[in-house]
Amino acid sequence: MTGSAAPWNYAPAPESTKVELKERYGLYIDGSFRDPVAGQFFETINPATEAPLARIAIADRQDVDNAVAAARKALKAWRRTPAIERAKYLFRIARRVQERARELAVLETMNNGKPIRETRDEDVPLAAAHFFHHAGWCDKLRFAFPTRDGTPPAPVGVCGQIIPWNFPLLMAAWKIAPALACGNTVVLKPAETTSLTALRLAEILQEIDLPPGVVNIVTGAGETGKAIVAHGDIDKIAFTGSTEVGRSIAASVAGTSKRLTLELGGKSPNIIFADAAIDQAIEGVVSAIWANQGQVCCAGSRLLVEESVADEVISKLHHRMRSLRVGDPLDKNTDVGAINSRAQLDRVERYIKCGVAEGASYNAFTEGSLPKKGFWVRPCFFTGVQPAHTIAREEIFGPVLAVMTFRTPDEAVARANNTMYGLSAGVWTSRGSKAYEIAKQIKAGVIWCNTFNQFDPAAPFGGYRESGFGREGGRAGLAAYLA
Ligand code: NAD
Ligand code: MN
Repeated sequence: MTGSAAPWNYAPAPESTKVELKERYGLYIDGSFRDPVAGQFFETINPATEAPLARIAIADRQDVDNAVAAARKALKAWRRTPAIERAKYLFRIARRVQERARELAVLETMNNGKPIRETRDEDVPLAAAHFFHHAGWCDKLRFAFPTRDGTPPAPVGVCGQIIPWNFPLLMAAWKIAPALACGNTVVLKPAETTSLTALRLAEILQEIDLPPGVVNIVTGAGETGKAIVAHGDIDKIAFTGSTEVGRSIAASVAGTSKRLTLELGGKSPNIIFADAAIDQAIEGVVSAIWANQGQVCCAGSRLLVEESVADEVISKLHHRMRSLRVGDPLDKNTDVGAINSRAQLDRVERYIKCGVAEGASYNAFTEGSLPKKGFWVRPCFFTGVQPAHTIAREEIFGPVLAVMTFRTPDEAVARANNTMYGLSAGVWTSRGSKAYEIAKQIKAGVIWCNTFNQFDPAAPFGGYRESGFGREGGRAGLAAYLA
């Protein structure tokens, strides 16, 4: 397709990278940073430049054991801390996240590769919002979860929490805030490529005098995660990540007394009806699949368009895609940053090749060059996609959209539900009754109407089927942290 070329050369507007970075980071256990027992560290890099940023500790079994022991010891006093006092700690964390927002946003962008516009306007404010929201819950739990004798509901205990790299600080907030509000203690493991903001959050926990051991942060890769999952003195595992690892965690937890919640992958439909406000819908598609380079579990990665407006939608989408600025994530004008790791880039490129090989048509804006270093892929969409194509079925976790069409509302619903996943969906229509009719029939945990990827700490988030089980956010999210 053609159109007027939008040049990529424009005046750079880089955010300052003046943030404190230590040469190496230890494990945050029992209120202080310490070296791992075995003394092993690994390097964490900036995926947009491949430059090393710092060395991160690798926690082994012994370190995880120490972290769990600290959490167990702290649980005694923490669960008995008056709810209104627990609320003050959460409130102070929220305030401190706000105060250090610029620093957290810059660190997140440097370690994750996502645009500063997103970390500054979404990740960090939402992380603060989660702590504020849950501060408010602490002394009101007994109204939402009444007990027979009127006492506050009991926490689950020590929670092992394992999070992914796509929203590092935000996922830490999603996990820690409700756990603490309910009186649990925590051992949290960030993803190996994105530990820096979780470690900065640990510094915030020190600054606000959170009692030692209430939150412990252990870094490392899959082996560290396994040690948490297998630990005998953990009461609950909360995991967000790939369906594959989620499945292995479910198998290893089965038959133990551990509670489990899983937030896994997705292949979410985004449905545009002919009566929708098309320009608005196009913006929704942009945020559904190109925000965070498409590395979003609830990304709207399957676009279902009513046949009568398909040509219009595709041509407008192509035009809009040309205006996306791909490049330095620290530049305030950047729309699409770097993919988080070489492994993820390889995965995304394999899927793009696969889409072409299966006969779908690849559409991308190929003018202008991508940075020489770092992990880059052009935002793209495929037309001519069949429901049986790999790119229509598997989670790609990249800025790759599969476009399909439908003729009737029934066909839209059937195609939307034709997936093993069930995390989210989008419905675009100007008729409210139709939105409700369609939403009712779609098997997904979150359904957005005339918008996409909107998050609020009060709104429960979670999936069906292979997207996992359990909810995070609001009252439903708290239930998972109460006995
Ligand atoms: P992953 O599931 O391997 O990693 C997620 C977290 O689990 C990380 O902290 C990791 O260290 C930890 N982990 C890995 N193996 C573990 C194990 N055996 N036991 C306990 N913890 C373990 O995800 P990945 O390898 O980084 O990405 C692979 C694919 O997963 C992506 O391409 C994407 O499709 C999907 N993914 C989904 C999400 C999501 O939010 N749903 C997040 C990340 C990745
Ligand atoms: Mn993995």
